Amino acid sequence: MDLYGVRIPTIVTDNKAGRCSGCGEVIAGRPWRVSLLEIVAPESPVPSTESAPLNPGPFEFHGDPSHVLAWMSKRGMLFCRRSQVREIMRPVWVTAEPPLMGLCDGIHRDDHEFVDPAAVAADQS
Ligand SMILES: [Zn+2]
Ligand SMILES: [Zn+2]
Repeated sequence: MDLYGVRIPTIVTDNKAGRCSGCGEVIAGRPWRVSLLEIVAPESPVPSTESAPLNPGPFEFHGDPSHVLAWMSKRGMLFCRRSQVREIMRPVWVTAEPPLMGLCDGIHRDDHEFVDPAAVAADQS
């Protein structure tokens, strides 16, 4: 690599053996990492005797939203079609019996429109 005109002969590797959470295949090159924002904000500081809950993820995928959508579908999650698949997704509980988790990027200001992620993937291909 070249940094400000200085050649740096370091071989940069990103963990190559990562597998896509969507299709299970090995990811060649840099994986696309998606994290879910913490589902429940802690109301009080976590005592030192307990470990703080971490945000789920990052999950690693091939660089194609359809792999992320396939993963959501497998896990029974819904996808807000007013959003896009991004590095950080916000979980939203959808009123249903049993309650379902929907994922949204949280950027749009109008109401969520949760749909089956498999249907979105089919639309985009
Ligand atoms: Zn994949
Ligand atoms: Zn939404």
